Amino acid sequence: MMTGAEYIESLRRLKTEVYFMGQRVESVVDHPAIRPHVNTAAVTYDLAHDPEYADLASAVSHLTGRRINRWTHIPQNQEDLVKKVKMLRVAGQITGTCFQRCVGMDALITLYSVTHDVDKKYGTDYHERFKRFLIETQDRDLMSGGAMTDPKGDRSKRPHEQHDPDLFVRVVERRSDGIVVRGAKMHQTGAVNSHQFIVLPGQSLGPEDKDYAVAFAVPADAPGVIQVFGRQVNDSRKWEGKIDQGNPTYGVVGGEALVIFDDVFVPYERVFLLGEWEFASTIVERFTAYHRQNYGGCKSGNLDVLIGATLALAEMQGTAKASHVRDKLAEMAHMVETMYGGALACSYECTKLACGTAFVNPLLANTAKLNTARYYPEVTRLAQDIAGGFVATMPSERELDNPRVGQFIRKYYQTRADVPAEDRIRLGRLVENMTGATPIIECMHGAGSPQAQKVVVQRLFDWVKRRRLAERIAGVGTEEGR
Ligand SMILES: Cc1cc2nc3c(=O)[nH]c(=O)nc-3n(C[C@H](O)[C@H](O)[C@H](O)COP(=O)(O)OP(=O)(O)OC[C@H]3O[C@@H](n4cnc5c(N)ncnc54)[C@H](O)[C@@H]3O)c2cc1C
Repeated sequence: MMTGAEYIESLRRLKTEVYFMGQRVESVVDHPAIRPHVNTAAVTYDLAHDPEYADLASAVSHLTGRRINRWTHIPQNQEDLVKKVKMLRVAGQITGTCFQRCVGMDALITLYSVTHDVDKKYGTDYHERFKRFLIETQDRDLMSGGAMTDPKGDRSKRPHEQHDPDLFVRVVERRSDGIVVRGAKMHQTGAVNSHQFIVLPGQSLGPEDKDYAVAFAVPADAPGVIQVFGRQVNDSRKWEGKIDQGNPTYGVVGGEALVIFDDVFVPYERVFLLGEWEFASTIVERFTAYHRQNYGGCKSGNLDVLIGATLALAEMQGTAKASHVRDKLAEMAHMVETMYGGALACSYECTKLACGTAFVNPLLANTAKLNTARYYPEVTRLAQDIAGGFVATMPSERELDNPRVGQFIRKYYQTRADVPAEDRIRLGRLVENMTGATPIIECMHGAGSPQAQKVVVQRLFDWVKRRRLAERIAGVGTEEGR
């Protein structure tokens, strides 16, 4: 298993093609806009070596018996799924933001079981190929970007109906030794600091969409893989100073990129689905269940930090004992524990897939994510309420050193005599960082928009059973009832 420092050094050896603000990025590790995201992903490596958390953040590979980082592990039982959630909460608490490595983890978990099922139906050898890839990923402790979301063009049309056939990733050539793929994946978390991408179809497909039914893995620096790093709210603060960033070490959300596959060659050894279109929906259902499980873990960890910042500000500002503030803090805690409870519940209620992998309860996993999409913004609203308006109006950190106004900033931003104004400003900036647009949009759309979860809830909830329960108690349809 790599340490965080070794992971960071390993990124220097990649020859990725990354663009940001109109320019090619020479080193993702040293770029101020990207470095915080690198630091955050590095936490997933360090945790596996930390005596306090190694039991959560590492596991024993069921394939090799060797100790591996849990972010590359295939859950074998209930305990593995529960540890996954607990590990995510801890990492969320340490970083206060998205640590990026779960999309790739869930892509690994999903393909492990789906390749098994495809082989069973078609006699293909995807599963053995995938196992070899998995062992390499585990032994080299690679970070994988999980690439599922296509640009999708006109949402009312299927892939083959789009005006541009490249709006979904597709196979454009089949050669004797591999395939050539074209298209793009959007919003790719941690992409620029991943070693490789695992590409999956992002929606169910029909027979006309056969060329879009493709799953594969490529190194992040394979020829033709081009990445464009996205902008975030207030990102220029990353090269202006430390305090105004709010979370200068770890940044905001995952650092997403548009990943373009400009006719990329993929050898068959790394192809895990090719034309079996009916398995696209299985991939999406399994991946989203595992990924939605996560949101109740990582986001509750992030919100633990936000609750802490809010409490600290209330204490500094003399409002912590007010009953309405205590009530709001309790409400925040209740929502966070509800999110976490859902993630744990879907793990405890797991079943086994045909290949032996433990599978979360999808109804509860989708409920956990839907709660996160609802509760994260609600918790941020309460944090902003308690923190006060200064979060939106503070001057720049540079004013603290301004010979003319610095003394006034320290004087007028001070609340209690024993608390320096700078401490309040730092916490205010952290609240601003965590309650701004990007993290809220991530909780909304990351792992799928809320409607996608509702569709699963509608489908899996046993409506007839509920109606019968009520009818029996009310005596509807019985002799007595009539
Ligand atoms: C911060 C962040 C990180 C992310 N990280 C990753 C990642 O690492 N890997 C990855 O693969 N993806 C990632 N995603 C993508 C995420 O899964 C998508 O944003 C999500 O699935 C929604 O897709 P979309 O953004 O294209 O929005 P859309 O699909 O356009 O949805 C917008 C709205 O339109 C509705 N809608 C969509 N289609 C239809 C339709 N046919 N009919 C009616 N209504 C419709 C939706 O319900 C929603 O309300 C990330 C997203 C964010 C915001």
